[in-house]
Amino acid sequence: MATLQIDQLRSNVRGPIVLPGDSTYDAVRQVYNAMIDKRPAIIVRCVDVADVMAAVEFARANSLLLAVRGGGHNGGGLGVCDDGLVIDLSLMRHVRVDPQARVVDVAGGCVWADVDHATHAFGLAVPCGFISSTGVGGLTLGGGIGYLTREYGLTIDNLLSADVVLADGSFVTTDADRHPDLFWALRGGGGNFGVVTSFRFKLHPVKTVYAGPTFWPLEQTAEVLAAYRDFIVRAPEHVNGFFAFLTIPPAPMFPEHLHMRKVCGVMWVCTSPAPEAEAATRPMRSVGTPLLDHQGDMPLPAVNSLFDGLYPPGLQWYWRADFVKELTDEAIARHATFGAALPTMHSTMHLYAIDGAAQRVGRDETAFSYRDANWAEVIVGVDPDPANKEAITSWCKNYFDALHPYSAGGAYVNFMMDEGQERVQASFRDNYARLSEIKMKYDPGNLFRVNQNIRPSSVAVGSGS
Ligand SMILES: Cc1cc2nc3c(=O)[nH]c(=O)nc-3n(C[C@H](O)[C@H](O)[C@H](O)COP(=O)(O)OP(=O)(O)OC[C@H]3O[C@@H](n4cnc5c(N)ncnc54)[C@H](O)[C@@H]3O)c2cc1C
Repeated sequence: MATLQIDQLRSNVRGPIVLPGDSTYDAVRQVYNAMIDKRPAIIVRCVDVADVMAAVEFARANSLLLAVRGGGHNGGGLGVCDDGLVIDLSLMRHVRVDPQARVVDVAGGCVWADVDHATHAFGLAVPCGFISSTGVGGLTLGGGIGYLTREYGLTIDNLLSADVVLADGSFVTTDADRHPDLFWALRGGGGNFGVVTSFRFKLHPVKTVYAGPTFWPLEQTAEVLAAYRDFIVRAPEHVNGFFAFLTIPPAPMFPEHLHMRKVCGVMWVCTSPAPEAEAATRPMRSVGTPLLDHQGDMPLPAVNSLFDGLYPPGLQWYWRADFVKELTDEAIARHATFGAALPTMHSTMHLYAIDGAAQRVGRDETAFSYRDANWAEVIVGVDPDPANKEAITSWCKNYFDALHPYSAGGAYVNFMMDEGQERVQASFRDNYARLSEIKMKYDPGNLFRVNQNIRPSSVAVGSGS
């Protein structure tokens, strides 16, 4: 990039501009997954909406590849790119709670810890994800699955409005009445339609939850997973629990004799008072012979950040995912085989329940299509050591290949790597055609393409909404 052009950009933005060779360049370009090593030409660390507008305009005018970074957690590294311009939103972290109206405004670069911190003070919460360092931006725009999904829906089901900088550099606020097509597309369609500089969410009265794990020996997987399958979809919605294969980490909170033991388990989070939650989960916790069964009252932010320490930034990650409608005994047998072969301590498989409130939204009411799935399955190979890259990747791929025939077909976009157009389309199913038309309307040149990309339809769309 010519110095003159960079100087021009500098004069239009208030946030720092980071270039190759700058002392902060390597730190700023780094995303959560250490397998990703991309080298952008320019990183604009936006501090306000005007910065975002200027950066979008600059990327478009100079035909630069454009990536938008929220929390930087995306497994496939979609918050950064080689050679192009990165809009880094991580300095935009303002949160404002309106406790009377029970809404919260969240700046586009926040992570969920920012939101939890601000809302918990009022005994309120937004349904978010299982790790608090994940970005609000990427998680929300893909859907948003977490402990409160069964009771209060996906994160997008709680989105009331969004401020968006569009591909032409203009700014709109969208909600159910203003640009409703854009609002529909943002709820599941990822970062394809613009840069969201602020999200407004509905809040729910959740402060303390009854939470903790039950672990069983791997030998009991078939019995436990079959029981979980039947239990969770019939459980009251104040009960949530995801199924996992994991290695018990050598942390003081676990008995020493269980350290590094591979197990299967359920991580419970219930919003009901302890006696009710204990009674509601007891039938499942009584299956087989648990190795450990420990729940208690915890503040929601503590639960949402329970795994943060185990999964700090800088590990190697490789994921594969699918939606699941039914878990057959045959699929469970395959799970048992791969669960027993977890390649490293951090590697895991989670089955997140996405029934309940999430299923009460129709499959065409938002861009998120898989409202008929009961679980989002994610297989993750993780390890600190790059030397284990091959081991975690091949375990993950083989596991996925073995289970994919039992899946609903598509995957949650936020759990996908760069897997090609066919997989993107499978995730949106019959919503893809509408998404593609809305993309044509708001981003005909596909400026926002560092994402699970929705291609603009070639047919021009009328101005409509
Ligand atoms: C450890 C870990 C735990 C996770 N847990 C969960 C979970 O519990 N539930 C769940 O649903 N998902 C979960 N995810 C997946 C997560 O939702 C995705 O990785 C998501 O893309 C992360 O968002 P981000 O903003 O941190 O990512 P980034 O890498 O910054 O961005 C990801 C994508 O979103 C776009 N984007 C981000 N912010 C904006 C914005 N403000 N405007 C426009 N586009 C934007 C980017 O352009 C990019 O395409 C987890 C991921 C990790 C690594």
